[in-house]
Amino acid sequence: MVKLLSLVLALMMLFTACAFAEAAPAETLFTPGTYEADAQGFGGTVHVAVTVSENEIEEVVITGDAETPALGGVAVATLGEAIVQAQTPHVDALSGATVTSTAIIAAAEDALELAGADIALLDEYRRDTDENVVKEEKTIETEIVIVGAGGAGMTAAIMAQQAGKDFVILEKMPYVGGNTTKATGGMNAAETHYQKEQGIEDSVELFVQDTMKGGHDINDPALVQTLAEQSAGAIDWLDSIGADLPKISFSGGASTNRIHAPADGSAVGNYLVDKFSAKLEELGVQVMLNTTATELIMEDGKIAGVKAESKDTYYTIKAKAVILATGGFGANLDMIAGYRPDLRGTVTTNAPGATGDGIVMAQAVGADLVDIEQIQLHPTVEQTTSMLITESVRGDGAILVNQSGNRFTNELLTRDAVSAAELAQQGQYAYIIFDQHLRDNLKAIEKYVKNGLTVQADTVEELARKLNIYPYFLTMTMKQWNEAVQAQNDGQFGRTTGMDNDLTTPPYYAIQIAPGIHHTMGGVKINTQAQVIDTNGNVIPGLFAAGEVTGGVHGGNRLGGNAVADIVIFGRIAAESAIEYCK
Ligand code: ADP
Repeated sequence: MVKLLSLVLALMMLFTACAFAEAAPAETLFTPGTYEADAQGFGGTVHVAVTVSENEIEEVVITGDAETPALGGVAVATLGEAIVQAQTPHVDALSGATVTSTAIIAAAEDALELAGADIALLDEYRRDTDENVVKEEKTIETEIVIVGAGGAGMTAAIMAQQAGKDFVILEKMPYVGGNTTKATGGMNAAETHYQKEQGIEDSVELFVQDTMKGGHDINDPALVQTLAEQSAGAIDWLDSIGADLPKISFSGGASTNRIHAPADGSAVGNYLVDKFSAKLEELGVQVMLNTTATELIMEDGKIAGVKAESKDTYYTIKAKAVILATGGFGANLDMIAGYRPDLRGTVTTNAPGATGDGIVMAQAVGADLVDIEQIQLHPTVEQTTSMLITESVRGDGAILVNQSGNRFTNELLTRDAVSAAELAQQGQYAYIIFDQHLRDNLKAIEKYVKNGLTVQADTVEELARKLNIYPYFLTMTMKQWNEAVQAQNDGQFGRTTGMDNDLTTPPYYAIQIAPGIHHTMGGVKINTQAQVIDTNGNVIPGLFAAGEVTGGVHGGNRLGGNAVADIVIFGRIAAESAIEYCK
């Protein structure tokens, strides 16, 4: 009887979940209403409230009192109108106020996604009107072109500027940050001064072993060795530009506490993008926003620059070296389905610029690709908003339960294993459950609460009822889990980490989650100097690549914390190699 009841409840929930996932009816752009979101600006939080009708962005109200009046304040005052005019959040950032502009655009994007918008479609509409513009042609000469201003590109740009190089950095979106802004956990690094100060034993060898094991041993061992060896130095470099990551915790697949995060536990991606943007502004580097690289120029078997275009200009940028930092292809669902037909229709957590341009451009000049079909699902993605629930929630002690209220896996196995376990549950989803103590210690959770993703209750029974789970089962599961934490022994699934705190402080919270496309692990083949390798195994002179555009570092499964390590470490190496090559 109880079984029958939970089956009926599970089916009801599945139905409700499907109905809820349908955010905006197919023939309209938005679900009418006012939607709000926040993002971190230069001086504090920027708040954006977007009012939409079925097919129009009607009003955008921005508040950000802590922004500097002369720059950020102007962005706060003007970008709302610009978004209404363009009918997309992707408007030009205000020159000199990229941090505030980026925050406004990101918050407007989040708010519109809550309204059920397909942001790529909004951009399509805008691009259609742009096509009528007659473009001028312009030639620029420089030493290095950096393509893409996400984590890897901005790291390379800071390095190039500090070395006094002549370079340009292109970004196709109206804001910087790319997928890096979506990184929630932290950065893996071994033998760092923070680990030593906090008495955490770790080693380069262990970092290598964990990364290879996590990647199912198909990673390029030389790249992994470089990643691990240079990780502590990269943490020092981040310290030197004011982007310190002192809070260390555990992340899935690591054999010790290795993931480094901002002191207040906030999401690493936004934190680093803010710090990198601020540093670039301080150094006087202007990112060429809204400028898409379209083609690599080759002359006499060597890279000689890139072709690019903006709304009103076709550029020929002549340069000795090009650094591709264009990110992955997780937002290009056709390219995903081309390499992995089984993933057609899966939601993506990716930023809209992650369309694989760098991979296509590199292939056109003969670059080899590695592990291109290796695409990572993240196990905790809220499906109606595609918002990623950071791994730190599980790392700090949350559990996953299915619609019957039972745990079904060690929650801190690698992402592919946890995703597979979820897909094996009835309805192919689960709930992540945590308590007030965990919320109090993890700032990232506030965003989920603010966006209405959490179900909250004063008791476990009440939470179960709200989730249509039979209360007895969830109560038993929580009791068993808290006993396991007390005994430091998870007899059920052998979990050994993220067990420092039990879940006994009300209120209790749940977020319904399922897997989503998160990271494309394959890409352009590079060597340990970030030089791009062609299909004959030779270096393509003058072409360098770093970050998610490359393949080989993560193998068949990327560990949480290794994307940020990848962008900072290989972003630095790509810059050093390009600088050396230009000498
Ligand atoms: P990574 O983590 O490797 O740095 P990100 O996704 O954070 O990757 O950043 C990649 C950046 O490159 C994004 O901001 C994206 O919009 C940008 N980008 C992608 N393709 C192009 C292109 N063709 N021209 C210019 N910028 C691009």
